[in-house]
Amino acid sequence: MSNALRVLVVEDETELAAVIVSYFKKEGYEVEHAIDGPTAVSMARARLPHLIVLDLMLPGFDGIEVCRQVRTFSDAYILMLTARDEEIDKIVGFAVGADDYVIKPFSPRELIARAKAILRRPRTQVGELSDLENSEILRYGEIRLDSQSRTVMVANVSVELTKTEFDLLEIMMENPKSVFSRRILLESVWGGEWYGELHVIDVHVGHLRKKLAEAGAPAGNIRTIRGVGYGMEI
Ligand code: CA
Repeated sequence: MSNALRVLVVEDETELAAVIVSYFKKEGYEVEHAIDGPTAVSMARARLPHLIVLDLMLPGFDGIEVCRQVRTFSDAYILMLTARDEEIDKIVGFAVGADDYVIKPFSPRELIARAKAILRRPRTQVGELSDLENSEILRYGEIRLDSQSRTVMVANVSVELTKTEFDLLEIMMENPKSVFSRRILLESVWGGEWYGELHVIDVHVGHLRKKLAEAGAPAGNIRTIRGVGYGMEI
């Protein structure tokens, strides 16, 4: 079996798919192609690709559903393709486990560059999870978050956070390129057992930003995405 990295391209526009496939092949990847959601999931299961380039709008079921199903058995990197900026609303589904997204139209060169960047990210192998998940240190700029001791530092300054503030920061730092809706953040923090106003999350994010800023983190570490929610690096 070759050592080439395996890429699964899931795209129903056949011309675009052919271009993407040929660029990945040119770069030495082993590439396969699926044109709908159900086929994508079964190919992902059979071939265990390292990277899945996944169109959002697909026949069968959409990219978000593919993502959700693939995540039940695979730790593959997932790079989503979306047609328009407005579809960012749907990318909120990032909380289901995509790693990055590219907005159409894109140049194949840009896509390959993003794919390579993703593949360079260290990812815990499934078998190692139990040893490592309790000692994970997340870094974002000068912010350092230790999931085990539940401490946050900005450079050398310790930041005192409430449980909710810590949980919010941890979710966003785990997926710094993702956009999170208020609802997803609330459900992640309170496990679906919250009541009332979605905008309660704004209060917690406000306190979190203030504490990070007071500890010396640059302003704007947590961005507001109008009409959607929050993210670190959008
Ligand atoms: Ca499509």
